[in-house]
Amino acid sequence: MTWLRSATTTDGRLIDVELRDGFIRQVVAVDDRRSHGSQTTGNGVATSNEVDLRGQVLLPSFVEPHAHLDKALTATVARNVTGDLAGAITAMQTLLAAMTVADVVARAEAALRIGLAAGTTHVRTHVNVGELAGMRALEALVDVRERWRGLVELQLVALVSHPLSGQPGRDLRRALAEGADVAGGCPHLDPEPARAVAICLDAAGEAGRPIDLHTDETLDPRLLTLATLADLVIRTGFTPGAAASHCVSLSMQPPDVQARVSEQVAAAGIGVVALPQTNLYLQGRAHPVGTPRGLTAIGPLHRAGVTVAAGGDNLRDPFNPVGRGDALETASLLVTAGHLDPLAALDAVTAAPRRVLGLPAVTLTAGSPADLVALPGPTALDALAAAGPARTVWRAGRIVARTHVHTDLAAVPAVSAIPAPHPLSRPWEAAL
Ligand SMILES: [Zn+2]
Repeated sequence: MTWLRSATTTDGRLIDVELRDGFIRQVVAVDDRRSHGSQTTGNGVATSNEVDLRGQVLLPSFVEPHAHLDKALTATVARNVTGDLAGAITAMQTLLAAMTVADVVARAEAALRIGLAAGTTHVRTHVNVGELAGMRALEALVDVRERWRGLVELQLVALVSHPLSGQPGRDLRRALAEGADVAGGCPHLDPEPARAVAICLDAAGEAGRPIDLHTDETLDPRLLTLATLADLVIRTGFTPGAAASHCVSLSMQPPDVQARVSEQVAAAGIGVVALPQTNLYLQGRAHPVGTPRGLTAIGPLHRAGVTVAAGGDNLRDPFNPVGRGDALETASLLVTAGHLDPLAALDAVTAAPRRVLGLPAVTLTAGSPADLVALPGPTALDALAAAGPARTVWRAGRIVARTHVHTDLAAVPAVSAIPAPHPLSRPWEAAL
């Protein structure tokens, strides 16, 4: 049993949280401590089974809904010369052919350590399979998935090579039989995109697995396989769960098309994964004037009731050479580039990806899994904006990462009191 003391919630309340057997057992408002008989030492000193979280915001741990652990940390050996998606794919081709199981394991684990220290306890990663990559990266990540159980939960998406139409579904079926959890693919890169969507969905349906496709990662409005996927999911009654990542071209459609397709996606129960870092890096290079941001149409999707999660996608590889592996970087970009309310941006890296990945919800209530992260800051907005490395991370009620930061400032003026935050100065919280 552990008590987390005096944590701040996203809506500004102070709470104590009791963790037991991997779950939150009770949550007590700090003002109500005595009436609930919670244990304090009487002198304000935390006991060995207490963690003092004064001045820290407590959130559900982060969930990364879209990573590429097999490509992680390759930016220094594979340069993207043109800086666009085609350049990234070209840079990766040499690497994919040369990848060894040991190499993938080492880089994937390094990426998981970075993510766990930042508060990420669940990761869905795409894994290249088939042409060039063979099944080596999958073999490596199946091994990593099993060894990291209990620390970071991994879901593996078989990212089948294109063109898919020449070898319809063969590599995807093999990967699903050899340890992949989810069917994936890049139909928008295939010569027959609609047919590629159908082939991937068939393979997923046969295996009874969810599907998560790289979808319309292009600013070309003529390509809109998101609508094709939604239509097929509805017509075939596909139930294992569907997600569509990127969905960039939706942002280039007229408002009525965005609204209609978003409603179709909602009806199909498809979760959309926005990927701001990689889209901002790769997209828009052919538009030097009024460069589009390349993000999906988050507003219309939200208005239609679609769950929109957000991920980091690439960690220092040819698709994004400067990824930090930090969900707060993703959330921050959703605020500045995606124009989301800050709390909605935090939701996109906590609650929303849990729904898209089919994971149990985590909330600060009794009975919830104790997968949590504490961040320094008087409010959630401060914590999101500062996004410093100092964090404490719990997985199933156990501390699995803790980062301390110590700064010495020489010869600066003494600390002055900062006015306490006033509810009226934070209208984005009242909106919840
Ligand atoms: Zn991706």
